[in-house]
Amino acid sequence: MEVGVLALQGAFREHRQMLHTLGTEAPLVRWPQDLEGLDGLIVPGGESTTIAKLLTIHELYAPIRKAYADGLAVFGTCAGAIMLAREIEDAREDQEPLALMDVRIRRNAYGRQIDSFETTVPFDGIEGGVKGVFIRAPRFENLSDEVEILSQTEDGEALAVRQGRALAVAFHPELTDDTRVHEYFLQQIVGH
Ligand code: GLN
Repeated sequence: MEVGVLALQGAFREHRQMLHTLGTEAPLVRWPQDLEGLDGLIVPGGESTTIAKLLTIHELYAPIRKAYADGLAVFGTCAGAIMLAREIEDAREDQEPLALMDVRIRRNAYGRQIDSFETTVPFDGIEGGVKGVFIRAPRFENLSDEVEILSQTEDGEALAVRQGRALAVAFHPELTDDTRVHEYFLQQIVGH
């Protein structure tokens, strides 16, 4: 099982470290040929407008979409989740999503006052929930019926969603020492 990490911008080193802790290689993906042979791809958090620009420069939009159509599993955190969505609210004008999941997502949805916070959030199948680090986090809106909610607030606001081979979370599990969301991805989605 080979899972790569998109390494254009953002917290790709931390994701790679998580995967190393879990005993997988985690090659870095920067160009289309780096996708060859991968079973999964992590799209890290960072700044989604920059990631979008770099995806264009690195000619990765079509190859990632094709790899996904051919069976690649994907996992996006925060800005990565934004990139996986079909529609971005508050996108920069030229910011094109990868559009692999039937969700609409709103960038920077939590406002200035509380633009970064940490809290424990429930997560399906993970006992006691996981620590969620939220940094200018996006909010999932308008999920299609195909999308399963794996984590939500008490008010029913989705924090982690899955659609088939795609997983997206609004927070940063890679910035904690809890590997269980990554394990979920490897076991339940990539290895499925
Ligand atoms: N607000 C950022 C964006 O729009 C995402 C922040 C993050 O990944 N921590 O891309």
